[in-house]
Amino acid sequence: MLFLQNLSAYIFIYFLCGTSYVCENILKFDYPKNVYFKCERCALCCGDSKNRVRSILLLKIEAERISEKTLKDIDGFAEKIEGFEPYIYQVKKTKDGKCIFLKDNSCTIYQIRPLICAFYPFELKEVGSNRYTFAYTDECPAIGKGPQLKRSYFERLFKKAIKIMREE
Ligand code: SF4
Repeated sequence: MLFLQNLSAYIFIYFLCGTSYVCENILKFDYPKNVYFKCERCALCCGDSKNRVRSILLLKIEAERISEKTLKDIDGFAEKIEGFEPYIYQVKKTKDGKCIFLKDNSCTIYQIRPLICAFYPFELKEVGSNRYTFAYTDECPAIGKGPQLKRSYFERLFKKAIKIMREE
């Protein structure tokens, strides 16, 4: 699973964004207008499924934050990866292919969960110069249920990504 495929672009955006006002005007994105969604906490996205092997990718800052909060060494919950920059780690999984932070179908690091998890079932794709679009996978059983998502939902995701890249 590789969401935020062009996260490195955010770094560029960050340097452009001197103020939030400027930022609002630079960050242009499209989003699906007729999508309904509310997470049902089924945990399907928290590990491998019948049809898909998942990589729960981590930025350096995310790994460090998880390490600090859980008091575990990064090596204890993640392994280094190459070729997915700016992601440099992936979360280890249990023998049955689930994220090691999943307990009783619940995320034990929910407040500090990786961007990739916060974005699911959406991903952000670069479609032009400073132009992005949100796409989604209907693998998630909650797509089509819940409230219709408004622009503000996607803005929150976008801003979350920018915030973490600022700290990276
Ligand atoms: S697969 Fe969808 S409904 Fe299930 S936990 Fe993930 S986001 Fe929520």
